[in-house]
Formats: sequence, C-alpha cells, structure tokens
Amino acid sequence: MPKRMAYTVTFWGTRGSIPTPGAHTARYGGNTSCVAVEGPGGQLVILDAGTGIRELGLTLVGQNGAVKAEILLSHTHWDHIQGLPYFKPFFAPGNSVRIWGSKQGTKSLDAILHLQMDPAVFPVPLSAVSASLSVQEVQPGGEFSVGPFRAQVMQLRHPGTTLAYRLTPLSGGKSMAYVTDNELGPGGSYDTPPSWRRDLVRFLDRVDLLVHDAMYTPSELDTHRGWGHSSYEEAVELAAEAGAKQLMLFHHEPEHDDGALDELVAAARRLAQRRGAPTEVVAAQDGLQLSL
Ligand SMILES: [Zn+2]
Ligand SMILES: [Zn+2]
Repeated sequence: MPKRMAYTVTFWGTRGSIPTPGAHTARYGGNTSCVAVEGPGGQLVILDAGTGIRELGLTLVGQNGAVKAEILLSHTHWDHIQGLPYFKPFFAPGNSVRIWGSKQGTKSLDAILHLQMDPAVFPVPLSAVSASLSVQEVQPGGEFSVGPFRAQVMQLRHPGTTLAYRLTPLSGGKSMAYVTDNELGPGGSYDTPPSWRRDLVRFLDRVDLLVHDAMYTPSELDTHRGWGHSSYEEAVELAAEAGAKQLMLFHHEPEHDDGALDELVAAARRLAQRRGAPTEVVAAQDGLQLSL
C-alpha cells in the first residue's frame, strides 16, 4: 500500500470581487481569492491568484532555494488574477511558474494574461518576468497531474468559462475541491448540460474539504440572480447532498463586514444541523490553515 499523503491548505485570500481592507473586515480578511495547497517537501499548488498571492509570494521568496509554483486559475475575472503581477517569484531567475486555466471564448489564456500586464494598464509586461513561465490550457471535464496531485476539472455556472478543481494526492489521501464563482440556483444563462447538478454532486462525492462560493444571504441572492454566485444555504445543501465532510464558505461579499460574516456562518451551521448533515461548516479567513 502506498503511503497516504498529508498536505496543508492555507487561505491567503478569501474575499470575492474586490479587496476590502479596513477595520471592519480585519478578522476575515480583505484579500481576494488565493489558496495554497502544499504537499510534503514543499510541492506547491496555488488555487487562483487574487491579491492574496502577493503575501504568499513574499513568504516563498523568503525561503531557501528556487520556487516552483503551479497556479490553477478558476477563471480570469479580476479578483482571481489581480495579484499575479505582484507575485514576487516571477522576478527572480531560477524560479519556475506554470499557470493552468481555461481560454475565454476565442481568447487564449496566454493572451489574457499578457493583456493584464499590457503597457496601457501596467508598467511591466509579462514577457519581462525573469522566472521561467509556462501557460497550460485546461478543458472542462479534463484531468491531469500537477505536483503530487491528480486534478479533475469541471465547468461551473458563472459568466465565462469557470472551472472547479478537485485535488486528490496521487499516492492516496484526503481530497479537496475548490469550487468558487458558481451559481447553484436558477438564473443566468450558462453553457452547462441539463445533468449539471447531478454531475457536480458526483464530482464532489464524499470530498473531505469543499471550498465553495457562499457570497450571499438568501435575500441578497434574490436581487443577484444571474450574477454567477450562490447563497450559504445553497452551499450547505450541495455539501450535504455530496456528503462533503467539511464545507468552507468562501468568496465573501465585499459588503459583508466581520459581524455580518459571523451571522452568516452561524446561520449556515444552524441549517446544516437542521438538515441533519454531518458536514462541518466553517468560513474561510485570510491566514487560516488546515491539514488534510
Ligand atoms: Zn470572483
Ligand atoms: Zn468571477
């Protein structure tokens, strides 16, 4: 029997849409989406490159040796790539960074990443970074190996092509799924098949950690249908249906301060309890670290 691999999951950015610095959001944090998954020996897979990736980059260059980073992008909306130009490992030769993600329409991922650092909007072009950089396009429904993990990919209900990733250690061990920017309820017009909900539940079957978009309260959701996000209620329902062991509420609404998020997570826990779901419910915070 191969040894089951243990790994850590660190939340560097948990906010949706736009960074929210300030006293009212200090506890949950204000950086946009970035999660680091680290296997033994420092093999690193990074989920999304929101502003949280800046601080992660600083800790990586502070360690000894070259940085080898694999970045899996859910999609290329601002809040998921905005930290990329400030990812310090880019600016030292000897480091290597590979970015995985989907094209958008006919625009390649490579072209989109270059546009983000076009001279019209940014001082340093992507072509000037000194680390070795490669860009790898991923298809919804695909599967590939990245670092010590097998990654499975599924398309979400969100404007543009947005991907969920399920990571399972190649040598066996607990699995986690990163599912953000996803509209579980009705609304919007997305390029997903009628079997999508069933497929998603199967994709998440008994996952140990489910990180899911829980941007809205049920009443906020009513005025944001078609925007590509979910309520905490919908996230709890999905986690229960899929038999997820732990649900991490993620992609916090910028207008939710710490008090509002405390109430949101308490309500989500009450719902999970009422439903008799064994799922443990937690809200992601910048700096939170778990071991799986
Ligand atoms: Zn987002
Ligand atoms: Zn988005």
